Amino acid sequence: TPGLYIVATPIGNLSDLSPRAASMLEAADLILVEDSRVTGKLLSHLGIRKAMQPYHDHSSAADRDRILARLASEVVVLVSDAGTPLISDPGYKLVAAARQAGANVGAVPGPSAAIMALTLSGLPTDRFLFGGFLPTKEKARRDVLDELGAVQATLVFYESGPRLAKSLSAAADALGDRPAAVTRELTKLYEEVATGSLPDLAARYADAPPKGEITLVIGPPLDDGPPDDAAIDEAIRDALATES
Ligand code: SAM
Repeated sequence: TPGLYIVATPIGNLSDLSPRAASMLEAADLILVEDSRVTGKLLSHLGIRKAMQPYHDHSSAADRDRILARLASEVVVLVSDAGTPLISDPGYKLVAAARQAGANVGAVPGPSAAIMALTLSGLPTDRFLFGGFLPTKEKARRDVLDELGAVQATLVFYESGPRLAKSLSAAADALGDRPAAVTRELTKLYEEVATGSLPDLAARYADAPPKGEITLVIGPPLDDGPPDDAAIDEAIRDALATES
């Protein structure tokens, strides 16, 4: 069926490309890509030759209109360099425009570093908040950490080796002793997960920027532990006061 298809691709290990993702790429009339060299490699690995066209959310509205015009009669596939499109990657504006236009929109789900990091971290998964990339400027980063740190949820951030140490020390300053996990090179040869408190991890990476791709997972706010005597007395007083 014609329409726009969001297709997830591997984040490192080519075997993670699903059979359905491969057939969607095979069936595509047009493949929208971030970088045609990166997707070109994937296609040649699959033995597929297809027309590729760059797409970014800062592409013009006219570019989007030209794509929308094709959705009624053609299969248009959106991929990113790695993982699931739209997740800190282009595509949101295109999907919004396609929905608005009443076009058929489908997806082939697959790898995403955020979800894989969360599942490997050992941190609570019942509630999580994906924070994308932390800002690089100190004040903006602190504001985001204060805002998201107040939420009762595990936090997931995309990172890079050179930025990791600064992000960890800023997170330790803002959020204290929470448990965290630094996941690196997921699905690749040097896959690694380092766990510890934020201050421990900040110290560990302070002078040793890791190589490769990194996703940071931070546990939810620590609860305050069991109530002390004063808190129990106050709760009893409150309960008696409402009874009378
Ligand atoms: N859309 C992609 C996804 O669903 O995984 C993420 C795209 S984002 C531009 C790239 C960031 O994802 C990297 O900077 C890194 O934080 C994270 N990432 C991608 N591949 C990874 C991997 N193999 N291991 C750990 N993190 C990874």
